[in-house]
This record gives sequence, C-alpha cells and structure tokens, in this order.
Amino acid sequence: MKIGLFGGTFSPPHNGHVRFAKLFIEKVGLDLLYVMPAGTPPHKATDPWGTEQARLEMAQLAFGSFAAVSDYEVQQSGKSYTYKTLEYLQHKHPEDTLYLLVGEDMYLSFDTWKNPGLIFSMATVVCVSRSTGAKEKMKTAGTVYETRYGGKSLYLSDQPLPISSTQIRGMCVSGQDISHLVPEAVAAYIMKHGLYKYE
Ligand code: ATP
Ligand code: MG
Repeated sequence: MKIGLFGGTFSPPHNGHVRFAKLFIEKVGLDLLYVMPAGTPPHKATDPWGTEQARLEMAQLAFGSFAAVSDYEVQQSGKSYTYKTLEYLQHKHPEDTLYLLVGEDMYLSFDTWKNPGLIFSMATVVCVSRSTGAKEKMKTAGTVYETRYGGKSLYLSDQPLPISSTQIRGMCVSGQDISHLVPEAVAAYIMKHGLYKYE
C-alpha cells in the first residue's frame, strides 16, 4: 500500500491544505493519508493560536471525510519531529511505502530539519508550490537533496493557492470574513469558539 503523511500546525487548516491533501492522494495514488497536527512545545501551551484539541478538531472537520486525522504528534511531549513520526508509521505499516507531503517553504528549508537523510531514507518527499515561479527553485533543491541524501522527491504541479494560516489569523484579529479561505465547518468552529481574536 501507499501511505501518505501530511503534517503541519494547521492553526487553522485552510483551503490550500485541503486542495493539496486531495491532490496528493490522487496524483500519488495513496491508499491511506494520515493528517497529523503537530504538538505544541510546552512553552507555547497558552498560545493564542488555539489549543492542540482545537487544532485536532478543526483538522477532523477539514480532512476527516477523506483522510485519517491522527493525534500521534500531539500526544508526544515536546517538539514534533517528522523523522520520528515516519519511524512510527514505518513500524505501524512495515510492508508499505511512505510518502511525505510538504509545501514549498518546508521543502526549500529541508536542510534545517532534524535528520533530513533519515527522512529521505524512509519516504519519498512530495512537494507543492505555494507561489508562482517556485517550480525551478524546487527542482534545483530536489537535485541537491538527491545528491546529498540519495533521496527521491516528486513535484506535484498545480496552480499555487496563496493562502496561509498566518494570514487567516490576522484577518480574524481584525474581524474580516475568512469563510472563502477555510472549509465551512472550520469557519463555523472558529466563530463558535472565538479563536484567533487576539494576536
Ligand atoms: P502558518 O502561516 O501558521 O505557518 P501555513 O499556512 O504555512 O500556516 P502550516 O500548518 O504551517 O500552514 O503548513 C503545513 C504544511 O502545509 C506545510 O508543509 C506547508 O508548506 C503546507 N502549506 C500550507 N499552506 C499551503 C498552500 N497554500 N499551498 C501549499 N502548501 C501549503
Ligand atoms: Mg507554515
């Protein structure tokens, strides 16, 4: 089986995340996709970004109809590391092939991740653009990673959707309508729980 991992803070999950998660399933032909909200480091526990519970619930609302939302990373204490999550998935699915989805910013900063070589040894890294004209930069980075780590990358071409959670949180603080940027149920959840009202 082909198993995918899509991790992030998801504070909140938005239409860019959902579009690329679906594209990931379709283009790679995944049998199962895990969406994994990252744990919050202890010193950020009172972060106005919303609690781990809220991020998990919003992820369930955004991705639950087509992916398995996992609380594995939020259950771990401290910072989430992708290589550890991949080790966990490898252990859980020893016979299967793993794929990791990352957006442009994460892909281009891959060298700063913990144990990038280990990540490439466990998974094919699938990347997507977040801005126009990113394709060349990402292809070049892919060649460097291949030489450095012997790892494989796949580039998913698509029209970039320039949405970020940071932008959405900022719009909430200033009382703007975000309903066109997030799934309907996520917008309702944010309203109901009064999330992201303050910076
Ligand atoms: P923040 O602004 O808080 O960093 P974000 O929008 O970048 O939020 P994250 O939860 O940080 O969302 O991202 C999770 C993953 O989704 C990362 O790999 C990121 O690159 C990717 N991603 C986020 N937004 C998009 C988008 N619009 N298009 C493609 N990939 C995206
Ligand atoms: Mg981000």
